[in-house]
Amino acid sequence: MKKNIVFATGNQHKVKEINAIMGQDYIFQSLTDIGCYVDIPETADTVEGNAIQKAQYVRDHYQLPCFAEDTGLFIPAIGGEPGIYSARYAGPEKNAQNNMSLVLDKLHGHTDRGAYFKTIIAFIDETDTYVFEGRIDGVILQEPIGDSGFGYDPIFQPRGYSSSFAQMDLAVKASISHRFLATQKFHEFLKQYPL
Ligand code: IMP
Repeated sequence: MKKNIVFATGNQHKVKEINAIMGQDYIFQSLTDIGCYVDIPETADTVEGNAIQKAQYVRDHYQLPCFAEDTGLFIPAIGGEPGIYSARYAGPEKNAQNNMSLVLDKLHGHTDRGAYFKTIIAFIDETDTYVFEGRIDGVILQEPIGDSGFGYDPIFQPRGYSSSFAQMDLAVKASISHRFLATQKFHEFLKQYPL
């Protein structure tokens, strides 16, 4: 029998994505599925902290085991930016084109264009917190290339590949991405966890 597990997200696209990976074993309930319509605060200064904060909110208010996910793009040459501000780097309107332009402007003149995406999944039950990390390294291109995907995909080229995330087939990106790597670790953990 499939087991229920709450995913602290209002983003149905993310629920769909995780269903594609492990939906044969679990029923993922989104925040709206459990009647939670609040915008859960994300005020920590790390992606780990934000993922834990979201999962804790659900545990504390709904007494259900829950997991949450948080992701950022990190560029060491500019102090790790945009990091936790990835979605709203160029402003609260969360515009992907403006975010990419700001990254390219800030990186102008830098020879080190290394970058990585990091996803943290935090799972919380009554007593414990478990954290799973997925990371993919690559470089920031000189200009956006390709038009699939979202966010910073057009300017991020993963190490070992000659195309940007936005030039890749979605299924290929989905099989190497930071989110996939974190989800895989979480899946292995859940196989042993008595839900
Ligand atoms: P979230 O925590 O998954 O909402 O990700 C925060 C922000 O990071 C997004 O709004 C995007 O700007 C960026 N981001 C996360 N994952 C990706 C990705 O796979 N490609 C490009 N940008 C991403």
